[in-house]
Amino acid sequence: MKITDITIDRFKTTSRTVADADGHGHPAPEPYETTSSVMRIHTDEGVEGVTVGGNAALVESIVKPLLIGRDPFYREQIWHLLNERQRLHKGTLSDKLICAVDLALWDLAGKATHQPVYKLLGATRSKVPAYASTMCGDELPGGLSTPEEYGAFAKACQDKGYSAFKLHTWQPPIEWAPDPKMDVAACAAVRDAVGPDMRLMLDPFHFYDRQDACWIGRELEKLDYYWIEEPMDEQSMSSYKWLTDQLLIPVVGPETMEGKHFTRAEWIVQNAADISRAGVGDVGGLTPLMKTIHLCESHGVRCEIHGGGPGNLAALCAMQIPGEYYERGLLHPFVDYETPPPHLHSIADPLDDEGNVTIADTPGLGWDFDWEWIAAHPID
Ligand SMILES: [Mg+2]
Repeated sequence: MKITDITIDRFKTTSRTVADADGHGHPAPEPYETTSSVMRIHTDEGVEGVTVGGNAALVESIVKPLLIGRDPFYREQIWHLLNERQRLHKGTLSDKLICAVDLALWDLAGKATHQPVYKLLGATRSKVPAYASTMCGDELPGGLSTPEEYGAFAKACQDKGYSAFKLHTWQPPIEWAPDPKMDVAACAAVRDAVGPDMRLMLDPFHFYDRQDACWIGRELEKLDYYWIEEPMDEQSMSSYKWLTDQLLIPVVGPETMEGKHFTRAEWIVQNAADISRAGVGDVGGLTPLMKTIHLCESHGVRCEIHGGGPGNLAALCAMQIPGEYYERGLLHPFVDYETPPPHLHSIADPLDDEGNVTIADTPGLGWDFDWEWIAAHPID
């Protein structure tokens, strides 16, 4: 089998969330028209691999010249070619684009062999407990604008079946944020609302200094929180080593630090965090995510997966160490997460009554695109 072409379909769709000036999503006043794209890797045998995303100009100039004519099952070779090509193209060839190519190749392999990707990886389970992961705090009355509103939302998520809940608290561009005391007040209100048994985690402002991060962590210990995630700039690994030494509560990281599985290896060797973290989008695809997971397993370190979607769910269903939770969201009292956007027939992460997400058993990664809708809403 040979790769013959890579195409990007850009199309109009609708969204219920808008990004603030810092890039964090919040509820949109009304659903509005936006754009999306699907990358397709074509082969001479008619099998296609698909995934969301992809930049047409970069695919044309960098990815296609490397991939056309290659066997799509040579994922490891292709991933390394793209990783090496990044060296002089760091500003343009992102981990996100490498991730899209890698996910499309995994989808293709699943379709060619008539197997879901998590079984190709070596399956361990077909469903994963999910935590409700909130959007960042806001100033929308009735939304996530006060500690009490976080508490009420956590209770609603508990009633829906979730066994765990993670707060993202207030951050710039909100004028008064960040505020460590408000973060802890929200965490206390959530604990108060859901009782002692729900697993709770905090992902606060990412640029606190050591003292603020340590104070928040110690308050979370009193509230029996399960982990604290990325409270400081991850470019300073020694700050994390310091924090991890101070706290009993597990510190989770690195999440957004560049460097793929190589960075995670350095953090593990330095004991810079208690639990490692990676998602397909952070490390450049499912191929390096599985390396990260096996690296963690080799050191007895947990690896909590960052973000949702079919690639991360496939990894979670193919790992032996926890990887305890699927991150479901981001959620908000005003946003309907359960109804798919118009370009999908169904969402990738349906929740059952016990708070688990079950993976699709269809060949490939399980994307359920509405191809008729996509074809009817093209952008030139
Ligand atoms: Mg995070």
